[in-house]
Amino acid sequence: MIEHTETDFSFARRMDETDKLKSFRDEFLFPVHTNGKPSLYFCGNSLGLQPRSTRAALVQELDDWARFGVEGHFHAKNPWMPYHEYLTAAMARIAGAKETEVVVMNSLSVNLHLMMVSFYRPSQSRYKILIEHDAFPSDRYAVASQIRYHGYDPADACIELKARPGEVCIRQEDIDAIIDERGHEIALVMIGNTNYYTGQFFNMGHITSISHAKGCFVGFDCAHGAGNVPLELHHSGVDFAVWCTYKYLNGGPGSVGACFVHERHAGSKNIPRFEGWWGHNKETRFGMRDDFDPIYGVEAWQLSNPPILSLAAIKAAVEVMDRAGIYTLREKSIKLTAFLEKLIGGIGDERISIITPANPEERGAQLSIRVENADKSLFNALGENGVIADWREPDVIRIAAVPLYNSFMDVYEFVQILKSLLQNE
Ligand SMILES: *Cc1c(COP(=O)(O)O)cnc(C)c1O
Repeated sequence: MIEHTETDFSFARRMDETDKLKSFRDEFLFPVHTNGKPSLYFCGNSLGLQPRSTRAALVQELDDWARFGVEGHFHAKNPWMPYHEYLTAAMARIAGAKETEVVVMNSLSVNLHLMMVSFYRPSQSRYKILIEHDAFPSDRYAVASQIRYHGYDPADACIELKARPGEVCIRQEDIDAIIDERGHEIALVMIGNTNYYTGQFFNMGHITSISHAKGCFVGFDCAHGAGNVPLELHHSGVDFAVWCTYKYLNGGPGSVGACFVHERHAGSKNIPRFEGWWGHNKETRFGMRDDFDPIYGVEAWQLSNPPILSLAAIKAAVEVMDRAGIYTLREKSIKLTAFLEKLIGGIGDERISIITPANPEERGAQLSIRVENADKSLFNALGENGVIADWREPDVIRIAAVPLYNSFMDVYEFVQILKSLLQNE
């Protein structure tokens, strides 16, 4: 037993020493626990850590505002006028999109509504939305309210994807079957990718192609996928995607969200859309003309001039991630999460199970750990021992080992703490 533990310990040490991404950990600020040591931080799926470069990026814009006032729009070191464009190339690489397909704007739920204005166009014969039963609450509210807004009843118009009785994750074959049988009634397929609760990652390309074959529009909420798993949005063919930047993308609390619209809709004249001046042709935007002349691509969906301070923080953060590279991060992530999975299995306590899919292709960094008959006291005790994680009632602890700043030793230490707490119960 002791030998086994030592092996895991030395494995963790070796993996950290040979990790080509190891220097990135030092680019982030870890909350300090009351014991004076950095926390074991596993909440990057909820709020990513602050990159050290963020502060200077914000100070730059504050200084330029002080120095230039309104003229900062043109004379700031990073002129504010086109500021959102500075984020596009890195975000496009992270999301697997073309630059005309990605924009950082608004917040996630707002973008989801804007996208449904354009891609949920119900008719008498086709007015339903397919969504996961366990979708994030905001997504469910957004979908139900759009349905009601169009005069339909969510009880009838919302088709829910459910796991089978006794199971937690949704089977691909069940998704296939529902789209095959009911696709003709479905106006929009809208799925959370990765699922915030189970950590299940859905095959976007497959779901998109079978849904398109049935004539449905397809959108994904990638809040838990962006910066976690390479999304390949363009290649997947999905019509739209939305995500936030404060989770795996480390943009800061409440930071501006992001939106993808596939190139096939760029420049389309007959797409309904809510419009504002920031979506208007940049050359003539200040001409204040009556007729709206949309920018080619997803930028046409922009409404307002964006909050520069938030964009500055996101810019700093996505530059860090882009330097690491989403594919390199994913390679480490698969190993890091597999190590976490192995150590949890090694605790040998039958009260513990992992509800996240075991197949690495069907999950990102996060593991959702169910502890039977646990109450929140176990989670609180983890906190007292310097672990920052996330608790979901009634009995699930979500742990995201984030490859950009978590180490194999973090994972090792976390499991040692969990194990000793379970043994002392
Ligand atoms: C985090 C998250 C949200 C949050 O929405 P905001 O508009 O950014 O507050 C919505 N949906 C999902 C699936 C999420 O994970």
